[in-house]
Amino acid sequence: MHRFLSVGLWLAAVAISVASAPAAEVRYEVHFPNLPGYVTVKCDFHMHTVFSDALVWPTVRVNELWRQGFDAMAITDHVEYQPHKKDVPTQHNRPYELAKGPADTHDMLLIRGAEITRDTPPGHFNALFLKDIAPLDTKEFLDAVKQANEQGAFVFWNHIGWQGPEKGRWMDVHTTLHRNKWFQGMEVCNGDEYYPEAHKLCMEKGFTMLGNSDIHEPDLRKKSTSDDHRNMNLVFAKEKTAEAVHEALLAGRTAVWFNEQIIGRREYLEPLFYQCIEVLPPRAWPQKSGWLQIRNLCEADIHLERPGAWRPEKILLPARSTTLVRVAFGPKAKPAELKYTATNFLIAPGKALDVVLVVPKQ
Ligand code: ZN
Repeated sequence: MHRFLSVGLWLAAVAISVASAPAAEVRYEVHFPNLPGYVTVKCDFHMHTVFSDALVWPTVRVNELWRQGFDAMAITDHVEYQPHKKDVPTQHNRPYELAKGPADTHDMLLIRGAEITRDTPPGHFNALFLKDIAPLDTKEFLDAVKQANEQGAFVFWNHIGWQGPEKGRWMDVHTTLHRNKWFQGMEVCNGDEYYPEAHKLCMEKGFTMLGNSDIHEPDLRKKSTSDDHRNMNLVFAKEKTAEAVHEALLAGRTAVWFNEQIIGRREYLEPLFYQCIEVLPPRAWPQKSGWLQIRNLCEADIHLERPGAWRPEKILLPARSTTLVRVAFGPKAKPAELKYTATNFLIAPGKALDVVLVVPKQ
């Protein structure tokens, strides 16, 4: 009897401890369509943990991003700056090692990365796809970047608006890096900031465009919505693997979801727009005007505008919704074509993507 009782108590204790562990976690999917020939991989390549100057344990970053619909991530703690060093000693590879198990469980691609952190100039640079972060902990900036490149890393210049009198300026050291092909990308967005000058440099010099969170606080968002989301890189990769993401970054196949905007090269934003939009065949073929259903399949609201007399001048297509809109057509509009500008699809600083909505026949 006594023995049964103790077994019973033991079982009750097990049941309580199982019940108190989370039985399930929920991921809220983020909808951005694939492009022809490519899978759209949703990524954040810049974030911090207690291993540098942030307030979060590495595994928490995996949970945050998985919950919010991301597919790939890199923890990029500062190589040269660890203010919590007394409590969390310098171990450059440890954030990756700690996060790897939970990343595998959550089917999250985890990329080993680090932030090379020097005063401006040169500023801060992230290196991704490293094999070992420790050799980057070296006195000379150029040695650190060279070491990253010798490991086959993808290197990008972070937040050029940071900080000091030379911020945002292309200096001799950048010419040296560029001449050696030692960095391949730039952040056009970081946190709440957008840098038109970085956007321009990406277009002029062929750098890959990136937009990351650089988050230091815990991210309490439950999900990503059009109104409130972490910066997201859409990487158009041949498949959802770390190797394919690496190849896509080197080839410059990205777009950035930043606040209400999608930023990128026309060659990717154009197909992305047309994969997001579906114009449904009208019940009756429109004459001078007609009612149309336009579907937006993606997670971002889409804003359309057109100049001239044809109405409506502005259409808002809310994320993942169908909008019924009365439109006026031109006199020779057959097959009916509606020319608009997608004002939140940014293909250059201050320049939005022109699009044509074709009305299909019944
Ligand atoms: Zn950072």
